[in-house]
Amino acid sequence: MKRICVFCGSHVGNDPDYAGMARASALAIVRAGYGVVYGGGGIGLMAVVADTALAAGGEVIGVIPHALARTEMAHQGLTELHLVSTMHERKAMMEDLSDAFIALPGGFGTMDEFCEVLSWRQLRLHDKPIGLLNYRGYYDALLALFDSMVRQGFVGPHTRGLFIDARTIEELLAEMFAEKNLP
Ligand code: AMP
Repeated sequence: MKRICVFCGSHVGNDPDYAGMARASALAIVRAGYGVVYGGGGIGLMAVVADTALAAGGEVIGVIPHALARTEMAHQGLTELHLVSTMHERKAMMEDLSDAFIALPGGFGTMDEFCEVLSWRQLRLHDKPIGLLNYRGYYDALLALFDSMVRQGFVGPHTRGLFIDARTIEELLAEMFAEKNLP
């Protein structure tokens, strides 16, 4: 089965609409016929994505380090839960298990995961589609920074194009599927 890795916040944010966005994203992924890979937590938007995808009959695979299983309340109802030793192992396994990556609104952890798959694609360590859900402009400032990096000569225009951003999950998935002719 094809799977999309979802990076998102271990918090739910201050506006309940963020949870709605996470639910809509999980549903869209399952309806498109994809399984979900994520960090395995039972908190924040991560839990919202997992619970929604499971309730819709989707496959959900979690990958969580032993040390975080308690603080991030490892989800006990997943299709599969992989307990790993380190954050590095977590990210490597999430990458291996997935055919594409999407970042929803989140914090530093989400940023780290998004930038890592992006830099790995830049280094040609994989060639899987990457999407940034710029829900209600949440990532406008980050996109402006990326554009500035291109203008300053630290990121090539081609490299800047290694991920897709869109304001709705439907738009984002459509553009990502078109990019790689994914079904
Ligand atoms: P956050 O976006 O900060 O709420 O974190 C979302 C998820 O990313 C959580 O499961 C964190 O454990 C994970 N995370 C936090 N820091 C890192 C990191 N340096 N590398 C990868 N994942 C991280």
